[in-house]
Formats: sequence, C-alpha cells, structure tokens
Amino acid sequence: MDFYPVVIEKLIEEFAKLPGIGYKTAQRLTFYVLNLPQEEVREFADALIKARGTIKYCSVCGNFTDTDPCAICSNPNRDKSVICVVEQPKDIIAMEKVREFNGLYHVLHGNISPMAGRGPDDIKLKELVRRMNGEIKEVIVATNPNVEGEATAMYISKILNPLGVKVTRIAHGVPVGGDLEYADEVTLSKALEGRTEI
Ligand SMILES: [Zn+2]
Repeated sequence: MDFYPVVIEKLIEEFAKLPGIGYKTAQRLTFYVLNLPQEEVREFADALIKARGTIKYCSVCGNFTDTDPCAICSNPNRDKSVICVVEQPKDIIAMEKVREFNGLYHVLHGNISPMAGRGPDDIKLKELVRRMNGEIKEVIVATNPNVEGEATAMYISKILNPLGVKVTRIAHGVPVGGDLEYADEVTLSKALEGRTEI
C-alpha cells in the first residue's frame, strides 16, 4: 500500500509487528504518535531503547531484571525452600499480585510441545534442575492449564521426584485453556492453595 509517505508506512509496519496489533490498530497508533508533541515522542522512543538496553534475564531465575540476580532472588525475606515454575516472566507478575506466594520463581521461557516440535531442551529445564541444591523442598508448577502446560508439569515431576523434591501442581481454578496472566487474583490464590502433589 502506498497511500502514505514512506516514513509513515514504515511506522505503521513497525507497530503492526507488535503482538495483537493488526494493520488498522497500527494505523491508529501511528496517527496518534504523529499528533504528539515532539518531546513526548522522544520520551517514548527513549523509554523503548532504554528498556531494551538495560533489561536482561536474571541468571538465577530467568525473570526480567535490571540487576543480577533479580530483586526477588536477592530478597533475604523470600522463602528459599520453594520455587514456583512459570512459563513466562509476565506470569510472575500475575503470581506476585496474589501476594500469598513468598518463595522464589523459575521462568521456563516456554513449554514442552511435541506438536510444535519443542522438547525439554528448548526451555530452561536444565537450569531448574541445577537449582536443586538440597535447600529446595517444594517446586510448584504453575504452567498454563493447557495441553502443553500439563505435559511440561508432568515432565518436571518426572525429573525432580527422583531428586527427593516435592513437586506440586496448582489447582484447576485457572480456567482450562486460559493463560495464567489472565486469571484474576482470587482464582489464582485458590489455585495455589489447592495445589496437589504430582
Ligand atoms: Zn531472579
């Protein structure tokens, strides 16, 4: 499409690359930006570049962080005997909102999906096993309640049980097929409370 000057078309294209943004929304965002004062646009661009430039993954848990280890891993008040395993960093935010979990996290950065050709080596499972130092008493698997999330949970229990670690799975209060990040706090709190050993 060449209705617009190239620079505008380029901006629309860039917005359209974002998850959940179609061409129409990308157009709307572009026109919004074009109507902003120069200074605000600069702040926006700076925020993008700064975030990408300073945020890295925590070398312990895999969460997004600007310090290494992250604020959760280095917090002396967190319970170091329990690890909650999640698929993505955004799931940590969902869990933290519940305010009932005071242990540590481990981000897998994905799940096991034979359908998509994703195996145990494609996610941060070796890193999880490496954290089993005798101090960890329980691993709570909070992967999403779908086929991939369940397969991942089963695999984790299979590799950690022989190490003497109790592996639990959060209850199905989380709607099946739904994502952890969309579960409300009460549901997530109940799911955590009703976890069962696997
Ligand atoms: Zn961390």
